[in-house]
Amino acid sequence: MSKPAKSDPGAEEDTPMMRQYHSIKKDHPKAILFYRMGDFYEMFNEDAKIASVILNIALTSRNKNKSNPTPMCGIPYHAAQNYIAKLIKSGEKVAICEQMEDPKLAKGLVKREVVRVVTPGTVLDDNLLDPKSHQFLVAIYFSQDGIGLALADLTTGLFQTTEFNGANAATLLADEINKLGPTEVIVPDSAINGADNRKQLLDDMQISIFTREDWTFGQSQARRSLLEHFKTQSLEGFGCETLKKAASAAGALIQYLQETQKTALSHINALSTFNINNYMMLDQATTRSLELTQASDGSRKNSLLALLDLANTPLGARRIKDWVLKPLVRLPEIRGRLEIVREFKDDPSQRNAVREQLKKIYDIERLLGRISLSVGSPRDLASLKSSIQTFPAIKVLLDRCQAQALKKYTSCWDNLESVFQRIDNTIVEDPPFDMKNGSLIKPGCSEELDRLKAIASDGKQWIAKLEASERVATGIPLLKIGYNKIYGYYIEVTKKNVGRVPTEYIRKQSLVNAERYISPQLKKYEDEIVGAEEKILELEQNLFRQVREDVADESARIQSMAKVISELDALLAFAEVAHRYNYCHPDVNDGSVLRVENGRHPLVEQMETADQFIPNDLIMDSGAEQILIITGPNMAGKSTYLRQAALIALMAQIGSFVPADAAEVSLIDRIFSRVGAQDYLLKGQSTFMVEMNETANILNNATSRSLIILDEIGRGTSTFDGISIAWSIVERLHGAGNSGAKTLFATHYHELTDLAAVLPRVKNFTVQIKEWNDEILFLRKIIPGTADKSYGIQVARLAGLPPQVLARANEILLNLENGEFDELGLPKISHSQDRPSPTGTQQLSLFNDPSTPLVRKLQEIEPDSLSPRQALDTLYELIKIFRGDKS
Ligand code: ADP
Repeated sequence: MSKPAKSDPGAEEDTPMMRQYHSIKKDHPKAILFYRMGDFYEMFNEDAKIASVILNIALTSRNKNKSNPTPMCGIPYHAAQNYIAKLIKSGEKVAICEQMEDPKLAKGLVKREVVRVVTPGTVLDDNLLDPKSHQFLVAIYFSQDGIGLALADLTTGLFQTTEFNGANAATLLADEINKLGPTEVIVPDSAINGADNRKQLLDDMQISIFTREDWTFGQSQARRSLLEHFKTQSLEGFGCETLKKAASAAGALIQYLQETQKTALSHINALSTFNINNYMMLDQATTRSLELTQASDGSRKNSLLALLDLANTPLGARRIKDWVLKPLVRLPEIRGRLEIVREFKDDPSQRNAVREQLKKIYDIERLLGRISLSVGSPRDLASLKSSIQTFPAIKVLLDRCQAQALKKYTSCWDNLESVFQRIDNTIVEDPPFDMKNGSLIKPGCSEELDRLKAIASDGKQWIAKLEASERVATGIPLLKIGYNKIYGYYIEVTKKNVGRVPTEYIRKQSLVNAERYISPQLKKYEDEIVGAEEKILELEQNLFRQVREDVADESARIQSMAKVISELDALLAFAEVAHRYNYCHPDVNDGSVLRVENGRHPLVEQMETADQFIPNDLIMDSGAEQILIITGPNMAGKSTYLRQAALIALMAQIGSFVPADAAEVSLIDRIFSRVGAQDYLLKGQSTFMVEMNETANILNNATSRSLIILDEIGRGTSTFDGISIAWSIVERLHGAGNSGAKTLFATHYHELTDLAAVLPRVKNFTVQIKEWNDEILFLRKIIPGTADKSYGIQVARLAGLPPQVLARANEILLNLENGEFDELGLPKISHSQDRPSPTGTQQLSLFNDPSTPLVRKLQEIEPDSLSPRQALDTLYELIKIFRGDKS
């Protein structure tokens, strides 16, 4: 974060301009101030030092000869976007201070003002934005009894709030922040500076945090900010009149946006309060281990989101991301989405027709964002218009569909005819990107503009005529009339003809081969034409701004259609996915069963390297087959099976079809997934400790509607500890009642399969394999039963361990299977046929040591008293003792 500028301007250059600079800088101590001077933005003092390093530009100074020169650096204004981007990426904020009047017309010092502060969470530059993700700016408010959270996406106008209460508040907040992935978070100063654990909580989230004064979060101030912004009497309409913490966070956020954007923020026209209990809960470990939005390598590719996102618009892509992280828990909504997906899956021509139309729709939410924030370009308006142009055709297609759930969209459909007309009547087809150079407005919109344009174009004709008549009058056939920005209009005559130039011509400029003149007649017209052209530019810009404002006034209507389009696009993408990958319609109900027929893992089955994917069935019932213990060697496919169960349930609840021949999913309130290696080293915690923390969270929060998938819980400690912990976790999950959380438990500990003998709702399953000599073949089929051994050495062979190491490992395995210690108390694990025993000399003394069982037995024997039968038994006994065979 940049430091405040030096507050002792007296020590520096004391000119009116620097005084103005300091008075502006005083209001923006935490931002780098871009101070506009002509065609440059200049930075001074600390700002210049910081920016010159980040931007890799020269640091110079004003007032070099004085004892205390002012450090400065500058960048050309037209390249500002790139420089701002770099500063933002380095975590800085940039306050953009413009000249508010034409320097040519200004009396004295040019008036300057900060027009916008760009922060990491308020970037509007398309090059810096990910079209497929929201850019969330988040505010967090802490109180004694809970936490308020508000989030806004300035680029689209989305504004939401919620609160977390009770002992779990901090964990729930961290889970939500993990899903949102905010680019900037604001918190009260006291959260960072206080002595409590709030700072630690925020540090753990690894997010970019800026602090604000506590009072901006104060309940009455925050409430006032919201009421003023929305011009309402209460927060009732937004659902947070009684949610004080949510309102505090939301109020502080809107105030921050007003301060940084310095505009009316007309596109933030509603605040929606959400309740996390209305969605399936997914904690951080679960979103990570199921690779919902990021694969294990951190990329979007190979995640569930990447698979499902066949959306044709950025709106749809963002909607799918929201849905993947917020599966539904209410049947009517889920069934409504599924009904629509089914219709479009089953009717390819209808699906393709709507998808073709959607392809023509631009990111209307972000276009509207820029339009409302007065930075929208003429091209943005044209893109909005051409997007709107598709609406009637889409409506016609939707009206042909049968799905009742589509009524949700068709009944509130709005072709935005007036917005279309407003743009279409005024803005030319294919307008330029920049509004500064004119050629934006269609003829017929403004009489004054048409009149000025006529003068300008008549003027041009007049010049052509003048050129012709001057050629005749002077007898110079090559006489030309031209124009350039510096000299304006001129009459150009080659050097050869200079002698024929009339006396009223006044010389303006000399070139190598020609001379340029102005004549009084030409001068008069020049004034008129240039004047008209300047006026045209100004008028066009004003007319354009007016259209932009009129469109911004319709932001609520445009946003609600953007929402409709985004949801349709998402549902059509699901239909396309279902069609491409042959998914089925899941039966989602409120029973207690999770049943999948020939289920597949949606991501593993798509991997190019994978063999033919082997589908598997699954039946779970919280009242019967509640806990499935799955044993099988490494690499058999246990984790894939576990994840596939969770993903199928999750996909069903976001309204997607699922990779199976048939599926029945009873509503699930939470998925807890602890599968696959997790890297906690960054947080400096031991894997075992984190695993136990997370397990505690599961045991405390799982309900009979939850789905838990656990892989190798307890492996981070000794075998006996591990088995004991895993055993008691299963007992607890099983519980004493008639039902419990559906749990899939993959484990190496074969001992756990004995649980099925004592707990009625525990069932054993294993992954089928085939042994072939010393090798194993993975059949990937999940079958009832238990694995008879771990096959670790065979799996290690597949991994390419050297043969000697494998042979020795086999030998050690045999030793271990024969018991832990030999008669000498030495670990049997160390025995080897090839190598002399390290205890060879001791073995010689074996028969001298009266304490060994063998010697004791030998001493006991009285051969004469033994019958032949007893002698034979004694011999067997001796051999048994010698071999250490306890059977
Ligand atoms: P485990 O958890 O038992 O060690 P994994 O689930 O990690 O095994 O599976 C190992 C590999 O086997 C996976 O990377 C995948 O490529 C493959 N695999 C798993 N299940 C299947 C299946 N049903 N069909 C085909 N290949 C599978």
